[in-house]
Amino acid sequence: MAWCPFAQRLELQPESDQQPAIRPTQFILHSLAAPWTAQRIYEYWQTSSLESHFGLGYDGDLGQYIGTETRADANYQANRRPDGTGAVSIETASNLQHTDPWTDRQVEQLIRLGVWLHQRHGIPLRICRSASDPGYGYHRLHAAWSSGGTACPGDARVRQFKNVVFPGIVARASGQSQEDPMPTVINETQQGGPALEAGKYKQLAMANDAALLQGPCSYSATTYATVKGQAGTRITMRFYDYHLTTEHRSYDLPIDCGTIGANGILNVAVTRNGLLDTNEVLRVEILADRPATVTWRVLRALRWSS
Ligand SMILES: [Zn+2]
Repeated sequence: MAWCPFAQRLELQPESDQQPAIRPTQFILHSLAAPWTAQRIYEYWQTSSLESHFGLGYDGDLGQYIGTETRADANYQANRRPDGTGAVSIETASNLQHTDPWTDRQVEQLIRLGVWLHQRHGIPLRICRSASDPGYGYHRLHAAWSSGGTACPGDARVRQFKNVVFPGIVARASGQSQEDPMPTVINETQQGGPALEAGKYKQLAMANDAALLQGPCSYSATTYATVKGQAGTRITMRFYDYHLTTEHRSYDLPIDCGTIGANGILNVAVTRNGLLDTNEVLRVEILADRPATVTWRVLRALRWSS
């Protein structure tokens, strides 16, 4: 049994002694749909047949209830597979609908714990490509991890997982010992573009492709566009991740790009750094509050395969 040195040990009995051993190969993140401390989660698990290995409060208080080499029952078929491998799980405090993002303190602890699991158990630094693939993930990533489906841990936290938590684990675990592989440089320029109806988002394709980038990869991408229209027309853009098989869309917040000037032209540029899973693509949309036309599009990006 392995106990994390920076987690408060709150051992759950009889589960800790009675549940079978696992060889941990995955780390799966959850939202609790309750704004509880690690101590309160422990008390709740004492009344339930389910439990997670770890619990994390809003203030970064981290509790461990079960050793990481013992099965915990939060991930359905990933708890323990017939070959003896299984997932380490963490429940994290959230609002009742699990729609809020992790706090900075929660993010820091998730990164720290993710690094410890890599060092202690050799969990590979990648996002689980299938339900049994070793790596890192969040509850709704694979259907076999829940009975009957789940939205857990919520859209905001899925975004944080991809853009902050997982890249943070990789960066810290890799430290200075591993050199960054060279990225691919993408530079696409296209004349023309869609006509924009007032108040309606329109997808901005690059190089005749709706997707700017396809995963698995990490990236830094900037999209430029020239928009023509009436002076004072306000332009907004927003990125989203689109999953090709589930058709799930995960939207970023809109980015205000300013208003078209007296010359009838506005040049806009929006940047996003992030990570895409297999079968996931990055797209961008543009909105004008009055009719306008996109006349020029440029995508510049650095893409690291993963
Ligand atoms: Zn969950």
